[in-house]
Amino acid sequence: MNKLTKSLTKNQVAVLKALQESSEPLSAYEIMERPDVRESGLRAPLTIYRALGKLIDLGLVHRLESMSAFVACCHDIPHSSPATFMICGSCKQTIEVESSAIERRILAEAKKQSFEIDRLHLEVSGRCGSCVSADN
Ligand SMILES: [Zn+2]
Ligand SMILES: [Zn+2]
Repeated sequence: MNKLTKSLTKNQVAVLKALQESSEPLSAYEIMERPDVRESGLRAPLTIYRALGKLIDLGLVHRLESMSAFVACCHDIPHSSPATFMICGSCKQTIEVESSAIERRILAEAKKQSFEIDRLHLEVSGRCGSCVSADN
């Protein structure tokens, strides 16, 4: 547990743990259904969303726009740059990839086109290595 996670509230820790222990992205309702989260007394969606909001601000959790679900960041050090995700459509495994080169490219293109970006989300759908080899 690093300095940042030490400053989290009990609710935020419970939500973060649920996401870290899950092998796939979870919606706010799925987080609420986790036994550990229930036991820690978190039963209102609003409380879950509040904890998620803070964790996202801190860079510890990312939101997957295409699924309306959340994943724990796989990096030890929180990052401010947006993350890119490869999402397996079969098993829902989500792989976070470093994408600053792609982002720089998009930002440069947007500037060229005078396009003002509100949010930048990169999500790639497909199948993960284990699902591909299970089929072969
Ligand atoms: Zn991340
Ligand atoms: Zn898969």
